[in-house]
Amino acid sequence: MKLEVVTIGTELLLGHALDTNAIDLGTALAAAGIEVTRRTTVADKPAAVADAVRGALERTGAVLTTGGLGPTKDDLTKQAVAGLLGRPLVLNEAVLRHIDERFRRFGRTMTPSNRVQAELPLGAEALHNPRGTAPGIWLEDGARLVIMLPGVPVEMRGLLAEHVLPRLVARMARAEREPRVVRSRTVRTTGVPESALAERIAAIEDALGPLTLAYLPSIAGVDLRLTAWELPPAEADARLGEAVDRLRTELGARCYGEDAADLAAVVLDQLRRRGWRLAVAESCTGGMLGERITAIPGSSDVFVGGVIAYSDAVKAAVLDVPQATLDGHGAVSEAAVRGMAEGATVRFGVECAMAVTGIAGPGGGTPEKPVGTVWIAVRHGGETRALQRQFLGERDEIRARSAQAALDLLRHALLEARLA
Ligand code: AMP
Ligand code: MG
Repeated sequence: MKLEVVTIGTELLLGHALDTNAIDLGTALAAAGIEVTRRTTVADKPAAVADAVRGALERTGAVLTTGGLGPTKDDLTKQAVAGLLGRPLVLNEAVLRHIDERFRRFGRTMTPSNRVQAELPLGAEALHNPRGTAPGIWLEDGARLVIMLPGVPVEMRGLLAEHVLPRLVARMARAEREPRVVRSRTVRTTGVPESALAERIAAIEDALGPLTLAYLPSIAGVDLRLTAWELPPAEADARLGEAVDRLRTELGARCYGEDAADLAAVVLDQLRRRGWRLAVAESCTGGMLGERITAIPGSSDVFVGGVIAYSDAVKAAVLDVPQATLDGHGAVSEAAVRGMAEGATVRFGVECAMAVTGIAGPGGGTPEKPVGTVWIAVRHGGETRALQRQFLGERDEIRARSAQAALDLLRHALLEARLA
């Protein structure tokens, strides 16, 4: 296994003390078959300690620190690590008794600052230190491991030999028996900006640990990818399943599916369950909607066909959009897109239709209707919903985003419509 070592103590940086712990650790860990991949020395400053431990956990997943566990104000290792991992410090009664006994044995009384030495980050185990007051600390955070040892060399060496090395050797043996996996699950959203999603999730984001969460924006929307790192397969699956449920609960209808889910397939499923058939009327997407739908196997039992109504003449002749509407409002307008959706429903004799008209650019924009102005509409149950969107990007991006937005408008309309 790989491990990083962080020695903590301003005296080490100032050259007032020799870092003998680093030498003792290097030899003992190497002899036990543990690879020390990096060694860092930092001052007794919480930010510096947290930074070093965070880096080590990100790179290597396992870190051993020495120093900064004493009773004085400059001993801050525990606080820094507890803060970093979001775990409060809690009093450990057994450690408190050990410190108390030790003081009695030497005929002294315990001070409140010694009590602090009996506090451990929540979930941590105390490693009994018969040579001093501060226990060693063993903290597993999912697959990540933080070991904190006192700086006093004789205490450090004792804890290393009696507790840390046996545990590390057992951990390596277990790792060989139990395979570990890196697994991901994805929750897919569309039509919601990344920052709005982040705000929505903020409250639960910390609780997703030890899983990591990545925001992956694309033309299709923003995917939220959860990853379990180096966990036993069953634990990885259980944690991912739980986290996906939490995200879906928090996001509600903003989420349209998981993993490789395609929005077109989701919409087709909803229509199939109702027994409704679908047609499309497309202007700026030029067939992209039909392509998205027919790419899904089995779409034929829902999708009947569509019209690429690119010119005003076709919008009027095939979809019966009144010429007065096209002249008065323009082909990219709410009235036009509503007319297109209604026309498609009638022309194809279906329960449900989608329509898109917009300015994909690079030319054709005006101050009132700049490039990226798109109207989409959905008609079902005798009602039409229309929506204007303003997209950024190149022509192809605007067209692809328009198709995705039209599918999503239909999905929302179906979610709110009563099951037929
Ligand atoms: P601390 O646990 O940080 O309060 O350290 C207690 C004492 O242990 C310090 O005053 C140093 O003399 C000694 N010490 C701490 N870190 C090291 C180290 N890396 N190597 C050798 N001695 C150390
Ligand atoms: Mg110190």
